[in-house]
Order: sequence, then C-alpha cells, then structure tokens
Amino acid sequence: MALFPIVRRNYLPSLFVNFAASVAVSLSAASAGVAWVWWWLGFVTLASLLRIIVHVWTGGRAPSEDGSEAEARRQILIAGLGMLVGAAGWAVLGWLLLAFPDPLVRYSTSIILAGMAAGAIGVLALFALIGPLYISILMVPGCVRLMAFGQGEAVTAVIGLVGLIFTVVMIVAHRGNRLLLMQSVQLGQRNTELMAQVLDANQTLENKVRERTETLKHQASHDLLTGLLNRRGLSDLFSLAAEGHCQGYVYFLDLNRFKRINDTLGHEAGDYVLREVAARLVVRLPPDAMVGRWGGDELVILIPAANEADRIDSQLVALFAAPFVFYGQTLDVSASIGVARCPENGTGLEELIRAADLAAAQAKRQGSVVPICYDPSLAAALERRERIADDIRSGLDEHQFWLAFQPIVGAATGELRAFEALIRWAHPTLGHLSPDEFISIAEESNQIGALGAWVLDRACEAAALWHRSGIRAAVAVNCSVRQLVQPDFIEIVRTTLARHGLAASWLHLEVTESVFMPASDAQMLEVLNQLDAIGICLAVDDFGTGYSSLARLRDFPIRQIKIDRSFIADIDGKSRSVIEGAVLIARRFDLQIVAEGVETPKQAQALLALGIDAFQGYLIGRPVEPPQPVVNCPWISMAKAG
Ligand code: C2E
Ligand code: MG
Ligand code: MG
Repeated sequence: MALFPIVRRNYLPSLFVNFAASVAVSLSAASAGVAWVWWWLGFVTLASLLRIIVHVWTGGRAPSEDGSEAEARRQILIAGLGMLVGAAGWAVLGWLLLAFPDPLVRYSTSIILAGMAAGAIGVLALFALIGPLYISILMVPGCVRLMAFGQGEAVTAVIGLVGLIFTVVMIVAHRGNRLLLMQSVQLGQRNTELMAQVLDANQTLENKVRERTETLKHQASHDLLTGLLNRRGLSDLFSLAAEGHCQGYVYFLDLNRFKRINDTLGHEAGDYVLREVAARLVVRLPPDAMVGRWGGDELVILIPAANEADRIDSQLVALFAAPFVFYGQTLDVSASIGVARCPENGTGLEELIRAADLAAAQAKRQGSVVPICYDPSLAAALERRERIADDIRSGLDEHQFWLAFQPIVGAATGELRAFEALIRWAHPTLGHLSPDEFISIAEESNQIGALGAWVLDRACEAAALWHRSGIRAAVAVNCSVRQLVQPDFIEIVRTTLARHGLAASWLHLEVTESVFMPASDAQMLEVLNQLDAIGICLAVDDFGTGYSSLARLRDFPIRQIKIDRSFIADIDGKSRSVIEGAVLIARRFDLQIVAEGVETPKQAQALLALGIDAFQGYLIGRPVEPPQPVVNCPWISMAKAG
C-alpha cells in the first residue's frame, strides 16, 4: 500500500518521457523516409492519451483513503500493464526500424531503446515482474533483430550482442534498485509506525496528566469523606456565584452531640452519620444548592435563589426526622441550623457563615430543630457571652462570686430542713449576673467543673459552720450534668465533705431531668449510684420541665423531686393536675416532694392540701447571705386558725 503513491508519482513523468522518445524516433525515421512511422506515432499518442484518461479517472480514489488494498493492487497492475503495452509498441518499432538500411535510424533507435530500458531501472523499480519484463520486451527483440538481420555487418551483430548483455545487466540493476527501494519504503513505514507509537504514548501521557490534574483539582476542592465541597471549594463557588451581585441564603448546620456518637460508638459511626447527612442533603436540596463540609461536624449550604427558604427549611427538618440506622442501631442525630441572608446579613462568605453560625448556636441553646434566622442582636448577645466566658476564671480568682442560701422547710410543720446554695456574681462592669445566664456559659466553655467545685466547697463550709452553731439543716447544691460526668467528680465530693467534716447525709445534690436522657444512661446511673452509696440525697430539680420517664425514676437512686416553680405559679390552672400527678408518682416511688417558688400563703395551703412534703420560695425566705434560720410560715398559723 505504501508503494502506491510512488507509482502514481512516477506515472505521468514516465508517460511524458515515453511520448517524447516516440516523437524523437518518429522524426528521425520520417527524415529517413519511413512514412508509416507516423501511424505508429499516432498509435502511441492515442495509447498515451488513453493512459492519461484512465490515470486521471482513477486519481480521485486513493486506496489508502477508502481502505481497499485490492483497489491499490488493481491500479498498480493497470499502470504496469500500460507500461507493457507501451513496451510492446516499442518492440514492434525496434523490430522494424533496426533492420532499416540507414544506420542513423538504426543507431538513434538503439540509443533511445537502451535509454528507455535504463530509465526503467528507476521508474519501474517497484514492479518486481513488470520491470524486468518491460526491459526485456524493449531490448530483446531489437537485439535479436540486430544480431540476426544486421545487414551482415559484424559491428551491428556485436551491438546486438552487447545489447543483450546490457539487458541482463539492467535486469540485475533493476533488481538491486528494487531491493534498495523496498528497504527504504519499509524503513519509512517503520518510521511512521514508530512516530505513531511515540504520538500515541504522548497522547496517553497527556491524558494521564490531564486526568491526574482533574483528580487533584477535585481533591483540592472536595471533602474526601463526604464528597461534598470543602472550604476552598465552597469559597470558589461562592465567589463565582456572587460575582457582581449576591443574593440568596447561607445555611449553617451544626450536628448535635456528634462527639458523643464518635466517643461512644466509634469513628465509623461518626463517618456514617456525616456521609448519610451529606447524601440526604444532596438528594433533597435543589440542584443549584451548593453543599459543603465546613469543619468536623459543620456543614454549609449556599442557596442562590432568594425565594426558596421555606421549602429548604422544611426539607432540612424532614431530613433529620428520618431515622439514622447504623448496623441495626438507631442513632440520635439532629442538627442546630442557622440561616443568614445575602446581602442583608453580609456579602462575603466568611461574614455570612459567621452570621449563620451565630444563628445555629442560638438554635442549639433553644434546642430548636427548625432553622433560626440570623438577627443582628445575636452578635451582641454572642459578644456578651464571650466576655462572660472570658471573665469566669478571673471572677473566681478575684472573689467576685458568692453564695446566697434559700431555706427549704417542712410543709406541715414549717421546720427548717435545708438551705439551697444559689450562686451569685457581682461582675465589676456588667453588674449582678443571674446564674441562669452564666451557668450555661460556664458549661459551654468547660469551666463548670471549676465553678461547681468552688460552690460545693463554699456550701459545705457554710453548712459545717451552721451545724457548729446548732442549726440542723442540710445544704442543697445545684449540680450540672457536665460536672457529674467528670471522671473525678466523686472524688471531689468525698474530699470536700471530708475537708469540712460534714456528714454526707447533710448534702443534697440537685440535678436536672437531663440526667435521664437515654444517651447518658449507663455512665450517669453509675455516678448517681456511687453518690447515693456515699449517703448523699439526690434531688431532681425543676421537675416537669424536661425529660422524665417513670422507668428512670424507678431505676435511678433519686430521693427527692422538686416541682418547678412555673407549675406552682399556675396552681389554680391546668398545672394543678400536673402537681397532683407528681405527688402520686412521688408516693408510688417513695420520694420526697418539694414545691419551688412558693410565694403566697394561698399557694402554700393548696400545696399542703395536695400532700407536698416541703416548700421553698419567697414566702418562706429569699436567697440571702448569710443563711437566715428564721423562716416565715404563715400558712401553718392559718391552718391552725382555720
Ligand atoms: P433552681 O435550682 O431551680 O433555683 C431556684 C431558683 O428560683 C433561684 O433562682 C431562686 O432565686 C428562684 N426562686 C426561689 N424562690 C422563688 C420564688 O418564690 N419566686 C421566684 N420567682 N423565684 C424564686 P436563681 O438563684 O436565679 O437560680 C437560677 C438557677 O440557676 C437555679 O435554679 C439553678 O438551676 C441555677 N443555679 C444557681 N446556682 C447554681 C450553682 O451553684 N450551680 C449550678 N449548676 N446551677 C446553679
Ligand atoms: Mg436548684
Ligand atoms: Mg428549680
């Protein structure tokens, strides 16, 4: 196939040479009086024209293009046969002219025939058979004619013989030339193949480099675990989306209690939760939403459309409502979600995420499952919280905290039973701060351990003091769940009691209903059992406002419940039945029941009638320092009078 272009390239020049030689011979023969030579020239001209027409006609269909090798062979054969026909014409001419008496005609004809045969060595080098045949047809008849009929001239016969020898030499030279040409064609072909291989390898390398670059680019902008965008990916997409104008919403999702899942069930469970949340987000959110992982358990969603917020909110709530099941175990997965609006709450991504993060923190404090929108007052609130968190340590060092004590008395007799220690903080610049505000901040900033230990120490110290002065009352200390799960909590309690020489039975620890949350079950039960074993009275504070279950009340070593003051304030309303229920439960489980926030004698009388054991509230005594043993029990005299 590679030979085909060479054949085509040589074809027209060789035709032209052939025709020119024909004209030259014809002219020389005609000048010697050979008239029929014009017929011969006419035949050659016709044959040449015919060959040109065939050549041009087949020229448009190069076989390398249509892929047909047979077609190429056919065309090469046609070209070769055309040459042979031409050679036959020359042989006839040679046969006739070489016997002509005029030596000029004989010699010129011999020279032209020899020249053409010599030319065939190169031009027909590609034709293995046609080449030698062409040379032979061109030369042999003429040589034989010269030798046999050479007018008896020895020179002519010798020229004929030399012509034959020359023919053999030319055939051998043709063969050598052909081999050389074939080798160079093969080399060329191999070169082309090699080039193709090099190009191919180059292409493969280029593809690999391109693929690798794409992978690296993807890795640089995506999170490996979830497949979501990472910080960089989010920032890049945000910059693109917000180019020129910024409109839409930024959602910040902070998974609740994620650390607990990791700590209790292992990182595999944590990974499962992150992957599952990511997959649900991708499926549920609109296609133009950009979802990314901002940090460990924090996810960010960018919604470019301005009018979809309500739908997104409900999708997010539904997403977490569906159960998360890990190896058959249903996990408690929820998120605190904050939303910031662009451009109202900011135009830069960091700024918007900070706003949405603040709103998410607010959602976490409120325990909201519904996304909360950012409000500028949140920033001020956060600043205050950060300031308070920063000042707790120095507040302890500089004795800014103190304890107020509020009496708890027997409902029927009015006898003093205990004082509840309530922490107070005289902040140098923010003024008097409520424990409702700073206790949660101390919990969040991991300072509740230090603060709680300080309260316990001062409360036990005060109780030991009033015991020495003859007041037989216990001290009730509030205790947050975070303190209870501290590994050294039991030890702290023991050493504090020992330091002040206070018997454990004089210490009450008030815990909220959050100790009953299923997630903290085993560990909490263990701690509470140990405290109970020491002899400490455990009370459930703010009873009725949080998570309570009868089974937990039965299984946990609780000795007292304190009904939240919101129910006491509403004793004439629906809360009455809640109080009645609580009294029933307390009787059933043999628990002491205390009413908090008793403010009026009427409330006290009603509570007494319902069977409450003890009262605490402004009616009996406000929280003061030092503790006041003189208490106010007007309902008793009223009952006696009644
Ligand atoms: P609590 O343990 O339920 O404490 C009772 C709260 O009710 C106290 O508020 C007390 O001043 C208030 N109170 C008592 N009687 C009445 C009444 O008749 N009417 C009204 N309206 N309120 C009354 P306080 O001192 O602001 O404490 C609030 C909460 O802060 C406490 O609720 C307790 O949960 C927490 N807390 C206080 N001190 C500590 C502490 O040392 N450690 C921990 N972890 N929490 C503390
Ligand atoms: Mg309390
Ligand atoms: Mg309470």
